[in-house]
Amino acid sequence: MSQAGSGHDEAARIPIASLKGVGPRVAEKLAARGLLTLQDLWLHLPRQYEDRTRLTPIAELRAGETVQVEGRVEAVERGFRYRPMLRVAIADDSQATLVLRFFHFRSQQVNQFRVGARVRCYGTPRPGQHGLEIVHPSYRVLDEEGGEDLGEALDPVYPAIEGIGPVSLRRLVAQALDRLPDEASLELLPADVLDALRLPSLREAVLTLHRPPLDADVSALLTGQHPAQRRLALEELLAHQLSLRRQRIALQRHRAPVLAGDGVLARRLEQSLPFRLTAAQRRVFEQVCADLAKPLPMLRLVQGDVGSGKTVVAALAAMLAVEQGRQVALAAPTELLAEQHLRNLHAWLQPLGVQVTWLAGKVTGKARAKALEDVASGVAQVVVGTHALMQEAVVFHDLALAIVDEQHRFGVQQRLALRDKGAAGGGAVPHQLVMTATPIPRTLAMTAYADLDVSAIDELPPGRTPVQTVALAAERRPELVERIRAACSEGRQAYWVCTLIDESDEVVAQAAQTTFEQLDAAMPELRIALVHGRMKAAAKQAAMQAFTRGEIDLLVATTVIEVGVDVPNASLMIIENAERLGLAQLHQLRGRVGRGAAASTCVLLYQPPLSQMARQRLDTLRQTSDGFVIAEKDLELRGPGELLGTRQTGLADFRIADLGRDAGLLPQVHALADRLLAEAPQQADRIVARWVGGAARYAGA
Ligand code: ADP
Ligand code: MG
Repeated sequence: MSQAGSGHDEAARIPIASLKGVGPRVAEKLAARGLLTLQDLWLHLPRQYEDRTRLTPIAELRAGETVQVEGRVEAVERGFRYRPMLRVAIADDSQATLVLRFFHFRSQQVNQFRVGARVRCYGTPRPGQHGLEIVHPSYRVLDEEGGEDLGEALDPVYPAIEGIGPVSLRRLVAQALDRLPDEASLELLPADVLDALRLPSLREAVLTLHRPPLDADVSALLTGQHPAQRRLALEELLAHQLSLRRQRIALQRHRAPVLAGDGVLARRLEQSLPFRLTAAQRRVFEQVCADLAKPLPMLRLVQGDVGSGKTVVAALAAMLAVEQGRQVALAAPTELLAEQHLRNLHAWLQPLGVQVTWLAGKVTGKARAKALEDVASGVAQVVVGTHALMQEAVVFHDLALAIVDEQHRFGVQQRLALRDKGAAGGGAVPHQLVMTATPIPRTLAMTAYADLDVSAIDELPPGRTPVQTVALAAERRPELVERIRAACSEGRQAYWVCTLIDESDEVVAQAAQTTFEQLDAAMPELRIALVHGRMKAAAKQAAMQAFTRGEIDLLVATTVIEVGVDVPNASLMIIENAERLGLAQLHQLRGRVGRGAAASTCVLLYQPPLSQMARQRLDTLRQTSDGFVIAEKDLELRGPGELLGTRQTGLADFRIADLGRDAGLLPQVHALADRLLAEAPQQADRIVARWVGGAARYAGA
């Protein structure tokens, strides 16, 4: 394996400002897009390629296929009927006509298009009023004397950067590429691996992607399947994998309190529950027990579908710490959820004589001072709260177990802040238990969670009838009033979820308000409440609590109710504009019903016509309620570029890799990570520094 010096690492870090033509203002604009060093430019890959190396006869054009065309102007028409418009018809030797249509243009442009002028243009035709047309093609009017050269290579199109024209950007990238180090000093992957996978060297890959040769496989390039792209994706995925493994190794160097007693408190809790644990809950609890009995910090993720009963497993784990006279923190991402945990834990633990303390942002003044004092003195045995738990002012007496619910809603940073509160003396850190209801396809779990141990509660408590899911076109909205009446007259409760494509809180809140008023007017006999993100926390809370207590029949809400809310008596959910939500989110929302014994229904209201993708999403939901199946389908449906977002899964945002597209590389990535960590740890460090380098926040995690 090459152990070349790290000269290239320095070349990579040279600031862009050292390039010609980059003054402070340009540098600032580049920096705003995260482009700081030469390496950032090497990896600022074209988002597309334009093939101007050939001409397509007009007769062979097809809608949706991007092409270069050349023809003579046959007719020009300028219209002003609704808005300014320019239509230019061109024809070529293939005897067919194509319309170029412009909505924004200058009169100088109009004059260029004399009848008979030769025009070469590039764009994507679509069906128009009179055959195919291209709206706003890029075009050039050619000289009369024919014989203009075609391009010799594919033209790269870079992601636009505000304030920097495409030509300047292309020049900057070219300058940066001139300073690309030679192959030997740039390469960090073992040659035998590249050979076996038939992937090019890093240098070759970067150059190919910026300046694809004429014979490059264009369709592979455009779909991200080209070996050069796979090569970069491989290295990037490897870097992330290595960085996560490093974190895990670093964590294992710490000590943690051993929480192994005879388990009497946990047993008493279990006996007091009104239900029996499922086999899956029991298995996961046993895994947690085994972790806690070791002097090493646990970092375990419990994945469990909505309603699988994660909370009680967390409570049982908490009892192991409390039994040892140590403290537990349980953090939830929203006040609503944290309150629900507080209620549950109160009900379960108070009879056992365990002191549960509440600490959220809205706990202020004397109450806050008292809570902080109890946390610091150790009187508080289990502390439940929100982000407020992670604030500096919160000092624990002896925190041994930190539990984080719906961990994807918290940043790594916040989770670490809680971990760092481990007093326990002697540099020990608390055990960490994180819970999520967002399943990750098995293929991705190792990539997302290489730093965690993962348990799955893959079984729902018995007696739940699966939610019946139906999709209805929005015009059938009036029928729903009857459905709601029917459910509520049987003493059941219902949710009406408002969503809009415009994600601004303001607009969604408005729509929810309107819907609330309409429903309220239509069903004066029902008790209806409204919850949205723009309401004061106290008002939101009051409405939620009333719903939980059964004092409200119908809750009109925005997606604030998405995560974790548990009201078993609710048996009907209506989701508006369901076609606009992703699978994972729809699944989460639907999980609010079907939590009790009653048969539940989820109505997905959609605005026709449905796109193919939206139809598949709604069909998937109708067919299954298994979170893992839905997650796999989600991965399959999302095209490249529609990554699993950081927000949803806690996965890193990649520059080049796309987990949907590149999942096939993962086995190699994992094997390569093992090998490098064992054989060439320095090489591994350099790979991490190259791709994840800026993320010093991970250091020692
Ligand atoms: P989630 O995993 O979505 O956080 P919860 O912990 O909120 O699920 O549990 C959902 C509901 O199921 C709660 O009302 C809880 O008390 C109940 N529950 C949990 N475990 C069981 C079980 N083994 N049998 C019956 N009900 C259970
Ligand atoms: Mg939960």
